[in-house]
Amino acid sequence: MDMTYSKVYLVGAGPGDPGLLTLKGRECIRKADVIVYDRLVHPSILRHARPDAELIYVGKASSAHTMKQEDINRLLTDKAKEGKTVVRLKGGDPFVFGRGGEEAEALVEEGIEFEIVPGITSAIAAPAYAGIPVTHRDFCSALGIITGHERAAECDRETGRPGDGEQGIAPSPHRPLAPSSSSENPNPGSRIKWDKIATGIDTLVFLMGVQNLPNIVSELVKNGRDPSTPVALVRWGTRVEQETLVGTLADIVGKVKETGFKSPAVTVVGDVVNLREKLRWFDNRPLFGKKVLVTRSRDQASALSQLLRDYGAEPVEFPVIRISPLKDCSELDAALDRIEEYDWLLFTSANGVTAAIDRLRELGRDVRSLKGPKIGAIGPKTAETIRGLGMNVDFTPSKFVAEQVVQEFPEHPDGKRILIPRAREAREVLPEKLAEKGARVDVVTSYQTEIEESDAAEVKELLARGEIDIVTFTSSSTVKNFVQLVGEGGRVSLPEGVKVACIGPITAQTAEECGLKPDVVADEYTIEGLVAALVAGVKAPG
Ligand code: SAH
Repeated sequence: MDMTYSKVYLVGAGPGDPGLLTLKGRECIRKADVIVYDRLVHPSILRHARPDAELIYVGKASSAHTMKQEDINRLLTDKAKEGKTVVRLKGGDPFVFGRGGEEAEALVEEGIEFEIVPGITSAIAAPAYAGIPVTHRDFCSALGIITGHERAAECDRETGRPGDGEQGIAPSPHRPLAPSSSSENPNPGSRIKWDKIATGIDTLVFLMGVQNLPNIVSELVKNGRDPSTPVALVRWGTRVEQETLVGTLADIVGKVKETGFKSPAVTVVGDVVNLREKLRWFDNRPLFGKKVLVTRSRDQASALSQLLRDYGAEPVEFPVIRISPLKDCSELDAALDRIEEYDWLLFTSANGVTAAIDRLRELGRDVRSLKGPKIGAIGPKTAETIRGLGMNVDFTPSKFVAEQVVQEFPEHPDGKRILIPRAREAREVLPEKLAEKGARVDVVTSYQTEIEESDAAEVKELLARGEIDIVTFTSSSTVKNFVQLVGEGGRVSLPEGVKVACIGPITAQTAEECGLKPDVVADEYTIEGLVAALVAGVKAPG
């Protein structure tokens, strides 16, 4: 047998929010040959994996399909013995009810090297995202993390989308409430010392405890915890799907029944729960839980996605456009050659700037040959890109509409020679308005866009399943390409309730021409403006 064993990393993937993965965890995932992962691992965490990594899912929804712990242990050791670098990826922290300890023991027995990479546990993070600090000087100086289901704790991977999970794994989810009245042995087989924890620890966090909640509550109350103690259940904590249910020991069981509240959830018991009212921050953000389709090019999507995330939305990137180099540069080259004849060089997009500079470089020149004209930038990103090249921006209008550009132009356009390098597909409004004022405008194509062949079937399915709330368009081209990919015959119809958000009136007009009804149109034609309009639109629906 090949004895060049590699390492096994027991990695905590964090509670859900893909940003709550540690740097070290990410590094392990990036280099892994094999990743063995559970159900609670957020799918986007697996995107850090190498494209050729072997991904093995061992945590199915129902117990029948869940790989047995011995089999998982064997899988880990077998893969390591093949010389592979193995990551065992678990939700939350691997050593908090994750059976990481047992897996590490199995590795030791086989003489396989391993490392533990702790993760952020849901026991602390889910309450935190619900605005509940698990400790607080005024209310709590001790914290207990307790299994809500002892059997499940031994089986791990009790998880689940609505309706599965705890039930599937727990051999007897409906354990009868304390069969004997003997206070010595209220719950045979239980290793939880209810009499001690009920009043001995201020904050109690139960994992895997939804199914067994009636039992937990009754044990706590029976052992002296005040029935008015606040309780919160946090489901899918730190994810966009997060839901929180608040009550007291006296009424929480009824509320769970009424609302049909399901696992996976953590249950927090203690006065700290009251702080949620004041500290709630995550699930009350304006776009919370909204799934927003981002159609921008892959290179440009991240700025919009990040902004959306800041407001609580979940961006779904579906690039429909990409920048492609010009096939024929003669027009651009000629304009660059006579650059000194122009009074103004007006850039209307960051792409336009980059394209012009790239072309100069190809011609063996650089920004120094742009001397002569003053430089104008339409939009803050455009200005930023120009400044990033070490050049000054002489003019940037306060709004990014053609009318405003003309109105705020620092000199009277009459007789001025203006060069506008921009996308082939761009509209003519700005040059027309400037020409109306007597300017001599040359528009040259400095780059072009083309359709990105993204996976339309996947997006169609997301739309059909109601998993997209808002579709965003940041240019007319994104509308047209989206329609070409997702629609038919130049038109597209979206399922009822899906909102359409456009960066400006021209984009909105294109959307209408394609059969879409723009619900939100930004006043300021920037990414920030678009998101601000979305936020306002959500606050005042209709
Ligand atoms: N090792 C994990 C816990 C595994 S046990 C950790 O440290 O978080 C599985 C239980 O964890 C679930 O039944 C649920 O109680 C809890 N859990 C895990 N992720 C959760 C999440 N995002 N929101 C709420 N509860 C979660």
